[in-house]
This record gives sequence, structure tokens and C-alpha cells, in this order.
Amino acid sequence: MGSDVDWSKYFTYRKTMLDAIKKRLGCDKIFAMAIMPIRGSRGFRKLDYEFAENDLNVKEVMDTLEEYHFNTVGLVIKDTDGACIWNTKNGWNPTNRDILGEFSDECRARDIPLLVSFTSMNDAYQGHLHPERVSVHGKKGKKFGRVYQKGDISTHPEGEMRVSKPKNVPFARYRQKIPFLTDQIDKESGKARSTRGKGYIPLTSFMCPNSKHVDYLLSLAEEVVQNYSVDAFFADYIRYDGAFKDLCTCERCRSRFREQYGSKPKIIKSSEWYNFKEETIVRYGKKLHKTIKKKDPNCITGWFCLPGPKKWFTRKKIAQNWEKLSAVFDIVSPMEYPYLMGTRDDGWFWGKVGDFFYWYFLRNMKKRAHEFNSPALAITNSVECNAEEMLKQLYGFDFGFGIGVFKYFGTTGEQWAVLKKFAKQNYGFK
Ligand SMILES: [Zn+2]
Repeated sequence: MGSDVDWSKYFTYRKTMLDAIKKRLGCDKIFAMAIMPIRGSRGFRKLDYEFAENDLNVKEVMDTLEEYHFNTVGLVIKDTDGACIWNTKNGWNPTNRDILGEFSDECRARDIPLLVSFTSMNDAYQGHLHPERVSVHGKKGKKFGRVYQKGDISTHPEGEMRVSKPKNVPFARYRQKIPFLTDQIDKESGKARSTRGKGYIPLTSFMCPNSKHVDYLLSLAEEVVQNYSVDAFFADYIRYDGAFKDLCTCERCRSRFREQYGSKPKIIKSSEWYNFKEETIVRYGKKLHKTIKKKDPNCITGWFCLPGPKKWFTRKKIAQNWEKLSAVFDIVSPMEYPYLMGTRDDGWFWGKVGDFFYWYFLRNMKKRAHEFNSPALAITNSVECNAEEMLKQLYGFDFGFGIGVFKYFGTTGEQWAVLKKFAKQNYGFK
């Protein structure tokens, strides 16, 4: 049993590409579970550094993954806060621990491929450290209850993540460790996706992809691939902030745009401008791919893609050109999270919202899969939905090469049971 849809009809990449990837990972079909060490013990709307430092038991996680027949481990090694969870010279590691090293060793010992996810343009810590590298608004506007002006940098209160402060540490001292923390607190948890977090509200920044932030990212990627055994390296947040259409109009971007396109086309208001933004993201993608392959030609490269309407979202807001990016990287991972928009567990209405997005995401992929020049391995969620919704997603979003699930911490007992059954039925385990 697999997906009801024959996805091979919708994708247009060459079959030999997929064979090469299968060979490198050593399996025909991926069944991956993602671990986000910084996001704490339950959902993903927390930044919990104490958990990563003291409570995360890597051996135990690996034992469980093996017991539940996962054949690939997905590890978020750099999250949207900017935390780099390895022994890094160039980055910021607030966990005092080499978590990547621990997972990498365990994966080698057990012969399980390790896939890492690397947040690129969203980086709260770098936004604090280098405000001059943060992307700049080209228009005034209002978002998250805050007014911003043309020319302001795009550092805003974080939409979904909240921070728990350790009980015995005063706020001012904790802010020395987490400098992008505000003293604002969100006490209630809402039902809409953006209002579920509880705790201190941190700031977040989308960095300018024409700034030195790119060199910083490349130096980190080099460290990772050089010092650790990693089978696949995926760029996440390889895009502009999806909440805005007017980024980035900093001096760097403006002059680069003028150099390439002359003085005529309008900034923000011309198709040349949106071509320029897409090309900027592709340029980073090429540099990253090259950096990884230079250190390890066998390491698979990938990128996370947000599904959605092509014109006003993919192009105008986030500037992810599917054809061009998937011509650079070995593999693409569409993020298929319809039940994060609403789950039946929150009531009938929210169940219908989730069902609608499930239908929409499938339709969107049927319409747009031909834009990919590479194989696709979708990732879907177990957290914040029920077991039935999760199972529907596992089947629905298998584009012929398996599925990734996020995330390990927060998956319920009922869901774990369903995952085990799913692995037995689809991966030939007894
Ligand atoms: Zn810029």
C-alpha cells in the first residue's frame, strides 16, 4: 500500500537521479524522523536550551528510532534562533554540547544515514549581533501588532516560538545568554496556528541574502561537512520571510539590482525585481551546494520548499524558484503540514480547516510537481495533529521515495503505535 496517486506521472526528473540517491543512502524508501533538539520535549513552539543541554538522551532517541523501524535520522543542527548544535568555531552554540557529534557517532555505529537540516536566512542571534545584515523593509506596514517604517530592519517579535526561562535565573541574566529575548510574555495558548505558543516572546530576524550573512553560513556548512560524517545536508529557510512582500531593499540589494537591471525597473513593483530576488536565493543555493560538495562529493544536498500559490507566495514573498533551486540541489523536500493549520483535536471547525489544507496541498503538488528538476522527499508532521490525520499524511505525501516525519519529541503514544504499524506494512518489517 502506498499513496493513492501515481506521483511518477507528475514529476519530470530523470529516474537515474533517484537511483543515485537511493544508493548513497542505502535504502529504497526513506522513513525518517526529525529531531529538533532546541525545541524541547513536546511541540515545536518552544526554545528550550536547558532541555538540549541536560535532558536530551541521544542513545535513548536512537534506540527508540530503531525500535520503530525508522531507517533515516533527520537532525536540525541549526534552528531559526541561530543555535548551532555542534562544536563550532564560527557559530553560536548555547547548549555547551556537541549534539551533532553524538548523533553522527551513533548513526555510524548503527549504520543509519544522517540527514541534517540547516536554517539559513532566519537567524535571531545573528540579527542581534549584526543588525546591519538584517533585511530591510521597502514599505511601511503593520505586523504582529507592531508598526514598522520603510527603511526599518526586519527584526520582529517571533510569531510562533516562545521561551521558558529556568526558574532560578533572573531575566536580565538569562537575556545575557539569549540576547534576542524580550520581557513580553504570552500566557494563553490559542487555537490558530500562530497563537499556540506560551512563554517569553523572542525577537527574530530574516537576514539579507546579499549580505555577509551568506559567508557566515558557508563557513558553518564547511565546518559541518568537514568535521562530521553527514549523509545529506538540507538547507531550510533558503528564502525571504514569507510574512512580507517588501524585503529586502537595503543599500546592497538596491545597488546590486541597479547594476544588473539598470535604472528603469522599479524596486518592489517590477517583474525584474522579483527575478532578482529569486536569483539572489539561487546564488546562495549554488554557493552552499558547491561548499558541501567540495568537502564531500558524496554528501547529498537538499532544500526545504514551502508549497503554496506560485505567483504571489513562491515568487513575490519567499522567492523560491522551484525549477532553478531543484536544478542546483540533489533533492527537494516539500514541507507538507496541512494539519498544522487545524486539527480535529481542537474541534470540528479546526478539523475542517486541516482537511481543506490537506486537499489543497495535494492539489498544489499535482499542479506544480513538474517544476522540480529533482526527486522529492516530503516531510510531514506528527505533532499538533492526531494519529488518524498523521497517517493520512504519511500515505498522501509519499511522492514515491518515502516520507520524513517531524518531530520525535511531541509524538503521542497512539501515534508511535501507528508509525510502527505503518513501517511494518510499507517497509517489510515483521
Ligand atoms: Zn538586502
